[in-house]
Amino acid sequence: MAVTVDPTLLPELRRYGAFDVAACFNCGNCTAVCPMTDDDATFPRRIIRYAQVGMKSELLASKELWTCYYCGECSETCPRQAEPGEFMAAARRFAIASYDRTRLARTMYLQPLLGTAIAVMLAIVFAMFMYVDHGPQDGATLALFQFIPAEWIHTIGVAVMIVVGLAGLAGLATMARRLARSEGVGWGTVLGSRAALKRSVAALWSAIGVESIGQTRYRRDCQTYQEPVVWYRRRWLLHALTMWGFLGLFGATIADYGLDLLGIKATGTPVPIWYPVRLLGTVSGAMLVFGVSMLILNRLQKANRSVRKSQPADWTLLALLWLTGVSGFVLELALYLPQAPGWGYWVFLFHVAVAMELVLLAPFMKLAHVLYRPVALFFFALRPATDAG
Ligand code: SF4
Ligand code: SF4
Repeated sequence: MAVTVDPTLLPELRRYGAFDVAACFNCGNCTAVCPMTDDDATFPRRIIRYAQVGMKSELLASKELWTCYYCGECSETCPRQAEPGEFMAAARRFAIASYDRTRLARTMYLQPLLGTAIAVMLAIVFAMFMYVDHGPQDGATLALFQFIPAEWIHTIGVAVMIVVGLAGLAGLATMARRLARSEGVGWGTVLGSRAALKRSVAALWSAIGVESIGQTRYRRDCQTYQEPVVWYRRRWLLHALTMWGFLGLFGATIADYGLDLLGIKATGTPVPIWYPVRLLGTVSGAMLVFGVSMLILNRLQKANRSVRKSQPADWTLLALLWLTGVSGFVLELALYLPQAPGWGYWVFLFHVAVAMELVLLAPFMKLAHVLYRPVALFFFALRPATDAG
């Protein structure tokens, strides 16, 4: 197959992070020390080579981009200070921006001020949307609505959610299509027979259950390379707490909505604090706030190699996660006080607006790895079977 070389690839990649792979002289040290290398003896050097020679399609179709946990061991031992770990992080940012056709991800990464302005504007749209749908029922309204009809705000809010959701799905489909083509995996390989289906289910379990939720390799491989830290500040643990907390809160929100739909409680009213759904929300919120607070502290203190360099987009994501978790707890406090305070309503609007924004902006930020990584791991888990078959 003909290879197209893009000479702008390396300068473009440099805009997504600070590294110097031009200094790389292919010694292979990074491959030797990388805990994720396994049988693929050329990782991460092969990806660096793609960047050096401008093989953009091959780089964007590399599942290895998403298996790197940025432990930083390769950067630590590179004889040319080429920062291969930072290169892998920058390549992932570039990939997220390239899969996204709306160019919103690119803006979030390369124009942080404009990206922040868009994020704030979206939060305001979502807050107004929530106000229209769940505003005070006594006729009191913000002066704003004298100028902007409530129906407009509702329509704009729904349109924004649909567009952003579809754009996220399109990015995921683009990534999956590139990987499938590069790996030679088609629908027949995945669903063509009973045996193929069995392999696919096993690969799905390995990608989502064992690796993504269980964090098996992160825990096993990367913790060996961490600088000595107290156990509650270990990278894999903080990453796991943040992810489990986020997923738990997402699950609790869906379950709470389900109770409304089933008529078990009146819409918008809280369940008793000992209900499983509330307990799940509280425990998940505590995990999220602790995990994110420690991740912020690690970045501020540059506690390990992987956080010595931070991009504005890293801070935006951490800030949104932290605000979602903390405002959730303030809201819980307001709900269970003997008399519901007036400010609780505004905390509710703030919390829902930030949480909606976080979920809907996920495909355009670093959080997109929550979507892309399991897809890459699925292809990894599928590969030995397809090779054998
Ligand atoms: S260790 Fe450094 S110089 Fe050697 S191949 Fe890796 S990036 Fe290149
Ligand atoms: S940062 Fe760690 S996991 Fe990523 S390529 Fe380097 S050594 Fe491998």
